[in-house]
This record gives sequence, structure tokens and C-alpha cells, in this order.
Amino acid sequence: MKLFRIPLWLWLVFLVAGVGYAFHPFALKQMMKIEQNRLLAQPQPTLSTMPQRLDFTKQMADLTYLASEALAGRGTGQPGGAKAQQWLVTEFAQIGLAAAGTAGYLQPYQPTTGKAQLMKGAANVLGRIEGTDPTLPMLVLTAHYDHLGVHQGQIYFGADDNASGVAALLALARYFKQHPPRHTLLFAALDNEETGMWGARMLFEQELLKPAQIKLNINMDMLSQNTDKQLIAVGSYHYPQLEKPLQQLQQQSSVRLLLGYDRPAWLVGTHQDWTFSSDHREFHNRAVPFVYFGVPDHAHYHQPSDTVDNMDPEFYREVSETLLDAVLLFDAS
Ligand SMILES: [Zn+2]
Repeated sequence: MKLFRIPLWLWLVFLVAGVGYAFHPFALKQMMKIEQNRLLAQPQPTLSTMPQRLDFTKQMADLTYLASEALAGRGTGQPGGAKAQQWLVTEFAQIGLAAAGTAGYLQPYQPTTGKAQLMKGAANVLGRIEGTDPTLPMLVLTAHYDHLGVHQGQIYFGADDNASGVAALLALARYFKQHPPRHTLLFAALDNEETGMWGARMLFEQELLKPAQIKLNINMDMLSQNTDKQLIAVGSYHYPQLEKPLQQLQQQSSVRLLLGYDRPAWLVGTHQDWTFSSDHREFHNRAVPFVYFGVPDHAHYHQPSDTVDNMDPEFYREVSETLLDAVLLFDAS
């Protein structure tokens, strides 16, 4: 039966594919290990404390409110999400940010595909501080304020994910209102990250922002807990110009700032490429440089136990001061 005669080369292809398939999980684990070691080989911080420049008492009060029962996990389209939105508008106004949405501070929008299109009342909250040099492109600071909301009768509080990022965003806005930056800063509390990153996407699709106006996106998502005091800075693999300022930041910070988690999945495995894991994705997709700050995954991630009690305030304070240094460095360069 000539028809079923399989040439030797095809047998070899089958063999290689079979062995490759069986070997894949092992190879993935090895890749992850190599990437971990590569990250940990980076220099240790030398400072033991960070200066106190941000109003951390107010910042903790903001985080506690955002992650409280009253806001019920800030689900997009849920009453808690709407409440968070209104509260952010009030805060932005109190800080004295210039309204930068399409309806005052708000940029309402409607997701158009998937489950998200059932969600009503989605909106980003946007405010800006003008830079002292109007010829410079802007820095866009982002943190998503939505979380999973109420699901099957349970509140997903989202203290770390991402009340921590939003409270840091507000603290930075307060600081820069008192200390004018060179670049214009856009403060964007984004909606719908958990359900398709619609908030970030709509910044561009509604043409509120054009890629050419932006020097850098600094995205903050999950900042408040890691037992090894690790904070990851993602993005310099794609945008090597960020490496120098980030290495300087590494020296200044008292947390263990590690550059990485941004090399392609075929090198490091999908779990360790975070290029597309949060709102910075939408900037990267439009060739806008980004740096994403966040902690490694933890046991409370996307669990009802992601509460204020389970975060680490001292680590969070140090991370926030590190982020202030980051903005100062990028503003100076
Ligand atoms: Zn998040």
C-alpha cells in the first residue's frame, strides 16, 4: 500500500514534534527559572529608607475608602463603580487639576464588543497639570479604578488591585500641584481594565489623545504587597531609552526594583511577559513608550481577600516614594 507509506523525513517531524510537546512544560519551567535568576541578578538597593514627600496619611485614607464596603469592589456598571467615579471627580477638583475629559473630568464611553458592552456608565476620570515647558510632550500617568465588584454575592474589594494605584495617582497629583513639572502631566483614573481595558483603549479611539503628544505612559497597577519588597518595572526591553533612568531609580529606591517581565513569551514563558497585562498595553499597541510598575502576583490576587488588612503599608509608602522619584526622573530627562 504505497498510499500509506510515510517518508522518513515525515517520521522525523512527528518524532521532534512529539518530544517537543512532552518537553514543553519542563522547558517553560526552565525558562521561568532563568528569567527569575536574571531579574534577581540586578543590583540590591543601598538605601534603607525613602524620604517622605507625599501625604501618606491622606493616601492611606483614600485607599481605605476605595477598598471599602461602601464602594463594593468598584465594578464597572455597578453602583460601587459609579460611586468611585463621582468620588474621583470630587478629589480631582479638590486637588485643583484642570478638567481633561470630554464632559468635565469625565470621559464617558460605551464598550462595543464582548461582555463589556452590557456595562452602562463606564467612564475615565481625567485631569491635568500644565508643564512649565509647553513645547514638551506629556507624561500620562494611569491607574485603573475599576475592580471585579460584587460577584455571586461576594465583594471583591481590590485593595491592592488597584485601589493602591489610584491612591498613589492622587498622592502624586497633590505633590505636582505644589511642585510644577516641566512636562504636562495627565492623570488618568481608568475604567474597565478588568473587562477588556476599554478605558485605556477609549483614550485613543475617541481621539482624546494622540500617540504623538505623549512622551511616556507610567502605569500603576498593584503596588502594596510583596514579602520580598519587590517592585517590577516593565517596559525597558521594548524601549531601551528607559533603561538608564530606571537603573538610576533602582539605586535610589529602598524597595527591590527589578527591570523585566517584558521579554517575549517565547523567551520567558507567557506568565513572565507582562507587556500586555494591564492598561499600558493600549499605549504599547500604538508605539507609545510605557513603563508599568506593579508587584508580582500574590495569593490575594483577584480574591475577596484582597483587602486593606492584607496589604503592607510601609512597603506601599516606599513604593509610592519610588514612583515619585520615577516621575521626577522622567520629567527631568
Ligand atoms: Zn489591576
